[in-house]
Amino acid sequence: MADYISVVNPATEERVKEILADDSAAVAQKVGRARAAQPTWAAKPVGEKVDLLNRFKALLVENADRLAATLTQETGKPIAQAKGEILATPARIDFFTQAVAGVIAPNVVYRETAEGEVDKSSTIPPLEEIISYDPLGVVANISAWNYPYFVGTNVFVPALLTGNAVLYKPSEIATMTGLAIAGLFYEAGVPEDIFIPVVGAGATGAALLQEKIDGVFFTGSYRTGQKIAITAAPKLIKIQLELGGKDPAYVCSDADIAKAAAGLADGAFYNNGQSCCAVERIYVHTDVYEPFLDSFLQTVQSFTLGDPTHLDTYLGPLSRKQQRSILTAQITDAVSKGATLHCGNQLLERPGFFFTPTVLTEVTHDMSVMREETFGPVIGVQRVSGDEEAIALMNDTDYGLTAAVYSESRDHAVQILEKVNSGSAYWNCCDRVNPRLPWTGRGHSGIGSTLSEVGILAFIQPRSWHLKV
Ligand code: NAD
Repeated sequence: MADYISVVNPATEERVKEILADDSAAVAQKVGRARAAQPTWAAKPVGEKVDLLNRFKALLVENADRLAATLTQETGKPIAQAKGEILATPARIDFFTQAVAGVIAPNVVYRETAEGEVDKSSTIPPLEEIISYDPLGVVANISAWNYPYFVGTNVFVPALLTGNAVLYKPSEIATMTGLAIAGLFYEAGVPEDIFIPVVGAGATGAALLQEKIDGVFFTGSYRTGQKIAITAAPKLIKIQLELGGKDPAYVCSDADIAKAAAGLADGAFYNNGQSCCAVERIYVHTDVYEPFLDSFLQTVQSFTLGDPTHLDTYLGPLSRKQQRSILTAQITDAVSKGATLHCGNQLLERPGFFFTPTVLTEVTHDMSVMREETFGPVIGVQRVSGDEEAIALMNDTDYGLTAAVYSESRDHAVQILEKVNSGSAYWNCCDRVNPRLPWTGRGHSGIGSTLSEVGILAFIQPRSWHLKV
């Protein structure tokens, strides 16, 4: 019997659409199409691929209102944040289109003259050594729902620019958005056999991994990432995993308290805390604990929770109903072990998967809220005696995505951040990604990097040329 993805609006619980999922046979057929088409795509000059990606970028901007409405309808992301994500995506595309030619250009690393000297001007030297790059081939991009435009672009744009064919499996929670992205690619002129959406949930993703592919680029949870790594390992293909986090922040005694409180409230609750780099733990120096907490609570209680289609809504519903039980379990565990609940932990008296923003204090690392990924609007704030205790607690995790330190001294913050094991380090900021810098996790936060030049190299394989007369 055919399987369908049921799209449910998380703000109203209304069924929006049923979309036919791909079964194993459909997945195999799509991989076959990509395999046949990829060499022609790879042979296209990079400038032509850049032109197509620029057309895709222009279509994103032209269609931003329609695309944002779809994203809000299927994920509950507040409309201003949905449109913000779409309109910030062109900057990522620009980074890739401007950097790609330089990264993939063949590089002559050695030229020897008859006299045995290196001479780059010699046209036919007796020995020449060159590094060139080939695409991986056909790659799978299995994606998360929380920022489909950002995390998708991080993978499929450099993959396409470097000559790969992409099987793009959007999350089952962002299926309509995934299909809309494919539609824009085709309108831009990208061949239908080069960017192919694969529709379905985990079983479809698993079927995709059974096919002959040359790389898997995954964004999602640690648990699923681990399954993907285990399944893909015997294939000896490229595996890249962008996984979850339990990102800490530390407010030093010399921090600007108002700025730290405002920045961290946004870092913890933007997109309802459903960000891989959302701040999930806050440590505060005991000297500034009370003023920080007052200011932080004031900001959190000022957030507007409600209909995500309203422009002034900051917090919409959770995207997934089942996330509520994870949040409730973490809060119940914390309170049973002595935590204080300052606000939140409530469902709203209306349809939709709403959950009020929750702040816990008197928390410890015996509580799951300080150790396991929450992925929702719940934060623990812990008082610490000083920098050493803060560093030890920040490192007390299997994850290693980001870490933030708030201090009026850059040197002080950098000294602390150097001792924390994380892929990104933030001074007086948090929850921030920039295409110029690698996006990379350590430990359970993943393997490999997207973005930056490192995130282009991920999609190509080097070839070493030894050319001897
Ligand atoms: P998820 O792991 O539940 O699902 C991710 C994708 O994997 C989905 O497309 C899903 O259908 C697919 N999938 C599930 N089981 C599979 C299987 N056995 N084989 C193949 N594919 C399978 O994650 P999610 O709920 O979509 O996303 C939330 C998680 O993603 C959080 O942990 C978050 O921190 C993480 N995330 C990380 C980053 C990053 O850049 N590090 C960015 C966004 C989200």
